[in-house]
Amino acid sequence: MRKTGLSINMEHPKKYFLLGLLTICFLQIKNKVFSQSNNKDPFQKIKSIPPALQTIPFNDIQPSGWLKMELQKNLNGFTGHLDSLVPDLILNDDIYGTKRLSKQVKSKNLGAISAEGDWQVQFLWWNSETQCNWLDGYIRTAILLKDQQHIKKAEKIVNALLATQDKDGYLGIYDPELRYKFDNENGELWAKTTLFRALLGWYEYKKDPQVLSAIVRAVDNVLKAYPINQSRPFYTTNPNAGGLTHGLAFTDVLEQLAKITRKNQYLDYCLFLYKDFSNQVINEDAQYAKLLDPNISLMGHGVHTYEHLRSVLAAYYASGNPALKMALYSFLKKIEKVTTASGGPVSDEFIGGRTGNGLLGYEFCSLHELMIGWIDLLEKSGDNLYAEKAEHLFFNAALGNTHPTESAICYLKQDNSFQLTGGNNGDTTDKHQTRYRYSPVHKEAAVCCIPNAGRIVPYFIQNMWMKDAQGLVATLLGPSVLNTTVSNTAVSITETTEYPFENNVAFQITAKSPIRFSLKIRKPQWAIAVKSSLPYKELNGFLVYDQVWNLSTKLVIDFTSEISKKFTSNKEVYFQKGALVLCHEINASQQITKTYPIAGLHESTYQAIQPIAYQYSKGVYASMPNNSCSVWVLNPITGKQEQLMLKPMARTILRQVSFKMIP
Ligand SMILES: [Zn+2]
Repeated sequence: MRKTGLSINMEHPKKYFLLGLLTICFLQIKNKVFSQSNNKDPFQKIKSIPPALQTIPFNDIQPSGWLKMELQKNLNGFTGHLDSLVPDLILNDDIYGTKRLSKQVKSKNLGAISAEGDWQVQFLWWNSETQCNWLDGYIRTAILLKDQQHIKKAEKIVNALLATQDKDGYLGIYDPELRYKFDNENGELWAKTTLFRALLGWYEYKKDPQVLSAIVRAVDNVLKAYPINQSRPFYTTNPNAGGLTHGLAFTDVLEQLAKITRKNQYLDYCLFLYKDFSNQVINEDAQYAKLLDPNISLMGHGVHTYEHLRSVLAAYYASGNPALKMALYSFLKKIEKVTTASGGPVSDEFIGGRTGNGLLGYEFCSLHELMIGWIDLLEKSGDNLYAEKAEHLFFNAALGNTHPTESAICYLKQDNSFQLTGGNNGDTTDKHQTRYRYSPVHKEAAVCCIPNAGRIVPYFIQNMWMKDAQGLVATLLGPSVLNTTVSNTAVSITETTEYPFENNVAFQITAKSPIRFSLKIRKPQWAIAVKSSLPYKELNGFLVYDQVWNLSTKLVIDFTSEISKKFTSNKEVYFQKGALVLCHEINASQQITKTYPIAGLHESTYQAIQPIAYQYSKGVYASMPNNSCSVWVLNPITGKQEQLMLKPMARTILRQVSFKMIP
């Protein structure tokens, strides 16, 4: 995730070449950018649009069942121990405090394999991302599991970070000599984004006004240093500036702060940031004019592109400008094109104008960023489609990337994984490629995906319930307990289910005193029938139960699914049952390549015992028990048809998800 621009130049000659092509391509459309934006101001504020749904403070939703176990596995493993697994990047680099970047700093241990280069000190922001994305996931995981020991440790880290705040409110990684004075790559806004997201999570839990005040002062310090419409925070003389452009995600902080303080100035600032980002000469897909042009494919560093979806969305909702709505919808079409069967978007670092298919890798960071993009769209639009996309990505691509029993993930993985030995399906062209294998750290590549693997589960959980003007909305389904209030009455809802591994869900609704409100339950789009123990009306893809809820009410819903045959954007066939994408699981042998001092943590590669890329013609398929499906496919080695038993890709290691079509 972090290894953009600079590191690519040093380590990956092929990517350097690609980057050169990208630069030419982006510069060619530069003139178009300015001519289009001159016609009519797409960044003019018309009227901000209120979101259709409201999020709930994250610790009001507790996980249970398999989701709780997943979270616990992370806390016992990489999320609970990353600081001691990479002490040089986290514990020993007080980058926000005593080791802030100044002109005197000449180098920094950044973890990844890197050669000497013409470094400039402002580039050395990487450890801030590692530290604070890890901290954000760690804080939320510890709180959701109510683990007092880890909560105490989190509090200590938060307090130490808050203590680094300067008198003028500055919280960040640069000393006064460097801060806010850049004309090139820098991590000013990005280092703040990752830190403030973690601090906002802590504030939601602790409700300590001093924490909120510290965040407000720190954000206001940015607004003062980069005055709205009178500064150029994204100006750079070098169009490849990965840390700088990560900084557009500062809109995450601004939007959350606007929710808490109800101050619209933070939303207006989102619009300003996107405007300035769009007007600079930088190699990024999400710039306004590039989005508008359907002939410009997504090219850039995947994780940037997918996280910027939220910023485009923030700018549109802050302005209500239809020009930005057009840009947003065009962006969504482009993302659709690069998405694979599992919901993973192409991002083996770069997208490179390719179309999603079973053999292209996606970075774990991209999975997290795009999933919360879908959730953001759900919150703002109330459209069930985006809940479907978030669930689809989480249950398939993300759970299909996470090791089923150990605390480890792949930095890069594909839908069709025939080998996980470092390179893409056994490719050894790049000897430094280690991303396609399991590790609880991935230090050789970059410690970016592991922190995000610690964020994706709590972020999914905290968005399982939202509110609207009429009551409560079950937006993402799964085992959980909600404790909230409706019109000042305490309401608790226990959701008991194995969903998506089973499709029946039981809700126990408890109210402190009888109260009428509407309870909306998302109907998955694949459900062909619904059985419900209580009467409901269906509205916009939600089952609506509008009634008086007495002290305790039980509601049981059963969604009927069937096997569906689907096609990827490059016309490969795959099968889905309910929310789960199915695969042919390939037997594999594990080789442990490194062991860590924490029990059970190690790195490993997997080799297929018999890798065969099956093909599909018109083979018969049928639903089988336990979310499985039988299908007749062609074995291209023997030339014979074989019957395979497909199972969910979640919790698999080597597998084939999509099948090339043959006549
Ligand atoms: Zn990553």
